[in-house]
Amino acid sequence: MRCPNCGERDTRVVDSRDLDESATIRRRRECNLCTTRFTTYERIESARLTVLKSDNRREEFDRDKLASGLAKALTRRPVPPDAAARAAEEIEAALRSRGVSEVPSGDIGQMAMDKLRELDQIAYIRFASVYQSYEGLEDLRKEVDSLLSEREEVEREVVVDRPRGGSASGKRYPKR
Ligand SMILES: [Zn+2]
Repeated sequence: MRCPNCGERDTRVVDSRDLDESATIRRRRECNLCTTRFTTYERIESARLTVLKSDNRREEFDRDKLASGLAKALTRRPVPPDAAARAAEEIEAALRSRGVSEVPSGDIGQMAMDKLRELDQIAYIRFASVYQSYEGLEDLRKEVDSLLSEREEVEREVVVDRPRGGSASGKRYPKR
């Protein structure tokens, strides 16, 4: 770190503090030659995160790509506009907290499905049907089964509420 005034390399830190909400440290330095004080900002470089794909190819983890995949599944669903971006951030944070440099793509797909399931069932099914992992399809089948059985229960209740046979008014309910 060179002094901006005289170019001297010999400087010392006189004050150092973390800036909240960012991985940034602000430092006040003083040149040991001309005593000029200046400020530097140090940022922690985020470690590389590589995705190991099912065909054994590797690629850099891309949060934006994940967010756009989630956003596609959430299109026109009743969720906050930043839901996809936030979910992608949370997934990235969870992946980085593992402290490893490589994660299988299947893990990310599973985490994405878990997030969507919390957010919106339709988005979850859309995503799962595209994602098509074995586990994904298995979950998808269960989800569809449970959605169908819920719907059948609702329909049964509707039928029970109707008067049976001819009602007092003689009104008939047409069969559908
Ligand atoms: Zn200097």
